[in-house]
Amino acid sequence: MEGFTEIVEGRTKLLVPPLSLTEKVPPKTPAFFNPAAKLNRDLSVLAYRAYAPRLKERTLADGFTGVGARALRVAVEVPEIEQVYGNDANPSAIKAAKKAAELNGVSAKCRFSVNEVCKFLLNGNDREERFGIVDLDPFGTPARHVDCVLRAALDGGLVSITATDTAVLCGVYPEVCLRRYYGRPLNNGYGNETAVRLLTSLMALTASRLELAIKPVFAHATMHYLRVYAQVNVSSSEANDVYSNLGYIRHCFNCGHRLAAKEYENAKCELCQHSMKTAGLLWTAPLQDAPFVTKMAEGGDEKCRKILDAAAGEIDVPYYFKGDEISSKMHTNPHSVAKIVEKLQATGYKASRASMNTGGFKTDARIDHVLQALS
Ligand SMILES: [Zn+2]
Repeated sequence: MEGFTEIVEGRTKLLVPPLSLTEKVPPKTPAFFNPAAKLNRDLSVLAYRAYAPRLKERTLADGFTGVGARALRVAVEVPEIEQVYGNDANPSAIKAAKKAAELNGVSAKCRFSVNEVCKFLLNGNDREERFGIVDLDPFGTPARHVDCVLRAALDGGLVSITATDTAVLCGVYPEVCLRRYYGRPLNNGYGNETAVRLLTSLMALTASRLELAIKPVFAHATMHYLRVYAQVNVSSSEANDVYSNLGYIRHCFNCGHRLAAKEYENAKCELCQHSMKTAGLLWTAPLQDAPFVTKMAEGGDEKCRKILDAAAGEIDVPYYFKGDEISSKMHTNPHSVAKIVEKLQATGYKASRASMNTGGFKTDARIDHVLQALS
């Protein structure tokens, strides 16, 4: 196909613009393809495979499919999914997706369409039915589409949502974050987890408005994007409980003390008396469903397994500490995360790696107690 070149990702042939493979920022014309998002797609193949047995209807909708990278990989690599629907506003991208479906021999189980994303999700394929899995991977914020994604999912289905407005969610533009996600971010060492929790909270609040409830099963974050996988249940009684999963995180930028809180409060730090910054409203309940994530890890490559193993073993604390943050406070050489976790556990605290930062760890110990335990 003119203007496109064939590559293989996972076990799937894709037709992509050649410049997308060489330019630092992949061009949007003739179609967008980001080779750096391979890990994101690898993890989604594992997630959908692990989730498929729970589905009443084994269908997937990919709202911003581009050249079909994720949709085609699911069609080829997740045989449990019977029908894949991909949609994009760019006709050139959809042409490449259809052609690639032929190359992979999966045309019969793929339907590609050109439509506005919410029109597609709600009835773009002339189907009134909802989808088993709904994926949304937009440029920038997913905030304006969250309603449609949730409304398009079947009871008991799965939604996966990516956000790439990481500067907003990680605290560079707090006012924009507040209006998009109804919560304040934190611009600090663990801001990416706060960001994931803000996105999850938006999903939960939106769901509750629609008499739905979400339960996150897996979430991950890199420098450039963050992503949440959540089960959707039709249940007004579960929707009533939405606030039991939401709260705030308070952080002291002076001494590094941090804690989760149920209520918003302009509090002073109990360790150093400085004013604390508050993040939220955000999701404070668990993000990782350990049995599900463990199931995902089966069949994953080393890169995926590293993330998934850390996610499965994570303790239930809605923030993390960084090893180098602790060593700079102690004026020592960096301790390894494994050593820190071991030492905290030996002292009687809960501790684990942090899945969203390879140099991070989680613990129920306060920062002064962490420093004591390690000195
Ligand atoms: Zn303090």
